Amino acid sequence: MIDDKFIDELKEKNNLVDVASKYCDLKRKGAVNYWACCPLPGHSEKTPSFTVNEPGQFFKCFGCGRGGDVISFIRIMENLDYVGAVRFLAERAGLPMPDDNRDYAKIAKERSERDRLLALMKTTAMFYVENLKDPRAKKYIDYMQSREVDMRTMKIFGIGASLDMSSLPRHLKAKGFTEEEMIKCCVCKKKVKDDGSSFIYDFLAERLIFPIINNLGNVIAFGGRTLEKNPRFMKYKNTEETELFKKNRTLFNINKLKLERAKQELSEVILVEGYMGTIRPYINGFKNVVASMGTSLTVEQAKILKRYAPTVIICYDGDSAGQKSTLRGLDILAGQGLEVKVLQLPPPDDPDDFIRKHGAEEFKKLLDESLPLIDYKLKILEKGYDITNDAERRKYIQEAIKV
Ligand SMILES: [Zn+2]
Repeated sequence: MIDDKFIDELKEKNNLVDVASKYCDLKRKGAVNYWACCPLPGHSEKTPSFTVNEPGQFFKCFGCGRGGDVISFIRIMENLDYVGAVRFLAERAGLPMPDDNRDYAKIAKERSERDRLLALMKTTAMFYVENLKDPRAKKYIDYMQSREVDMRTMKIFGIGASLDMSSLPRHLKAKGFTEEEMIKCCVCKKKVKDDGSSFIYDFLAERLIFPIINNLGNVIAFGGRTLEKNPRFMKYKNTEETELFKKNRTLFNINKLKLERAKQELSEVILVEGYMGTIRPYINGFKNVVASMGTSLTVEQAKILKRYAPTVIICYDGDSAGQKSTLRGLDILAGQGLEVKVLQLPPPDDPDDFIRKHGAEEFKKLLDESLPLIDYKLKILEKGYDITNDAERRKYIQEAIKV
């Protein structure tokens, strides 16, 4: 039970102006009101009609008509129920929830440590982008150009480069971060030499760098692609799991998907594999695209997707479609109540190859023709039987009933 006294204290410690500022660019106009372009999902505008009244601690949007207090604001923005929003604000303010004996002093301390790690990740991302101005980065820019990705697109996705082993740790140290923090974020690793001395180095040294950004806009990990042909080097290497980066809960491009959903209700999300598999559709106007992190889909990822759209169109590489792990992923999505469709690309194309070869129009056609899950499963099943043969056809029908 949450009593009024607690709610009063909660509101006192969560000034709506501060809370809302995290979601929009509030500008003071007049004595009491702040104005911004409306941050509420489903409403997009160019001139501000969203206001926050500071003394009254309420908001009102004259465009979409919604309004309320700080709790209703968080309910809408974070898609939470009442208790969830109260908990969110309690944690933000370091207040213990009633009947909640968690150690809030500890939570506050962990939060400030986490903020430092997030700052470290952001500093690292900016460093990699800045590297593109170095003549040594030319090969990465040339490589991207050869794959028809221009500087503008690189900027949109924050793509950068690591040029050597030692510049990053040196830069981070100069910015006040400790080696321990660099290692905690897995942007650096420590190597102990035979003579017992050690050095710290950039974990993704000499790679093209793709930042992985969460739904709150924080950089939480990086993917690095080497241009070395030597198979000794893994083509792609990602940040290992850290306090900030949990693979099974992460979707690449979720930050941009969130922006899309803020502009309009989405009827579907396109789920692809890989960085280029995401970037190509995105820059061709398919902005509702995200990628799983190379692993099989998880229940957590399915739950996240469900917050954005009712339908997921899976568009995996021609190679992996039909494989057991793909089918399992489809069932996981369906298990969360999502409508699942499958877009089949002609092997061995991935979305990047396909759009480059055939264009966005053709990709759109395939999207429109994507198969509902059950049809897709039947199609896969059918491949295993010769249905012109009576006995085989009976077997096929028996199996099909189970689908
Ligand atoms: Zn509005």
